[in-house]
Amino acid sequence: MNPRVRFAPSPTGQLHLGGARTALSNFLFAKNQGGQFLVRIEDTDLERSKQEHTDQICDSLSWLGLNWDDELVYQSSRTDVYQESLALLLDSGKAYRCFASKKELEKVREETGSYQYTGIWRNRSNSEIEKELGKGTAFTIRLRTPDTDNTRFKDIIYGEISVSNSEIDDFIVARSNGSPVYNFTNVVDDHGMGITHVIRGDDHISNTPKQLLIYQALGWDIPEFAHLPMILGQDKKRLSKRHGATGVQTYRDEGYQPDALLNYLALLGWNPGTEEEILTLEDLVKKFDLSQVQKKGAVFDQKKLNWISGQHLSMQDNRDILSQARAINSEWGMTKPDDFCLAVAELIKPRSKSLVDLMGQSGYFFHDPSGFDERDVRKTWKHDTPEIIESVISILDSISGEKAAELETSFKDYMEANNLGFAKVMKPVRLALCGNVNGPSLFEIMSLLGKETTLSRLRMALNNF
Ligand code: GLU
Repeated sequence: MNPRVRFAPSPTGQLHLGGARTALSNFLFAKNQGGQFLVRIEDTDLERSKQEHTDQICDSLSWLGLNWDDELVYQSSRTDVYQESLALLLDSGKAYRCFASKKELEKVREETGSYQYTGIWRNRSNSEIEKELGKGTAFTIRLRTPDTDNTRFKDIIYGEISVSNSEIDDFIVARSNGSPVYNFTNVVDDHGMGITHVIRGDDHISNTPKQLLIYQALGWDIPEFAHLPMILGQDKKRLSKRHGATGVQTYRDEGYQPDALLNYLALLGWNPGTEEEILTLEDLVKKFDLSQVQKKGAVFDQKKLNWISGQHLSMQDNRDILSQARAINSEWGMTKPDDFCLAVAELIKPRSKSLVDLMGQSGYFFHDPSGFDERDVRKTWKHDTPEIIESVISILDSISGEKAAELETSFKDYMEANNLGFAKVMKPVRLALCGNVNGPSLFEIMSLLGKETTLSRLRMALNNF
């Protein structure tokens, strides 16, 4: 049977990296097995759920390329379905109404020292129930859970999990205002949507035994479960805002690209089993194996994300880079022709971790350096540097071409003839042209800047330092 899985975010904020990883795991599993990936918006908490969050989550999923099958399912539009299932439970006696007041429950809690419900309304007669209904007493609906044995399941990642039924009380499935609780709506929808595998964060692992009891009470087939380990911050605590950016939109704004982010998220707690770690979404779909995901929480490593992102960027087509960079900053490179910008992208992309980084590093291609790194100036600009720069200026003046290879030959000849080291000549030239001493091949830079700009910057440096 082809699997059907779902990502079920609660729309209370933007898509978090952890949520994106859950969505990705579902997507990869489904697509690897020729199945379907659905999205359900768990918006029953009317106060915290916002349509703008749903829109943002869906926008982030689409941007990541995690396109879902079928229409979005909104829990808020399924009230009738929940009520039908609650009625089924009540009719079959698998659930019952509990008229105990808050006060009464608190008193029991004080007496027993435990939050476990003691079954006050578990075995009441029909007439007692009718009487309360007649009075209009508010009630919750509780599941009649077994007292003996264990509830067990085999998690695809965690393995055998078993909870003693004595630890699960007759928990509430619908509140006194009639609204069903998360565990209940979740099960009703997973059943209704034909979900075969529930893949979600392991923060839900403690909900699963309760959900299994709901499936059993309703006589429904139970899906398989896979609980994904949490993403952790460097301090091994669950990744949160305290650790820095956690929202997909934030990474998008910073110029990280979907394939890179997905690649990195997929590798959190999963090893593709090959040396090659740079994988496209298509590669990931082919290789993904849920049963190989580790139980241990994976620490989020910004450096590794940057490396992966840089690798993806360096393989990316320059035209895509240009259009995506302009989606972030529409002004970028607009003072020059597109061909020039494409050449800049070609030079800078192997040393960039994101599009924003690439744009940030490329300033000197479009305007004179806005400042000079003081440390670089001190280390690079020596007493004999002006003389060298003068010579470089006259060499450049004397050659007609602007091709990088040609420039390189002329410079090398000059250095050899004067017994000058590479750094002694090239570093100050680089400083004058770029404002610092790091960057791609200087000959490529000069060739792209053109003779006029190169000479003017060298002369400016002579005047400035
Ligand atoms: N709405 C739940 C959450 O956002 C998801 C529950 C589930 O996947 O079963 O955590």
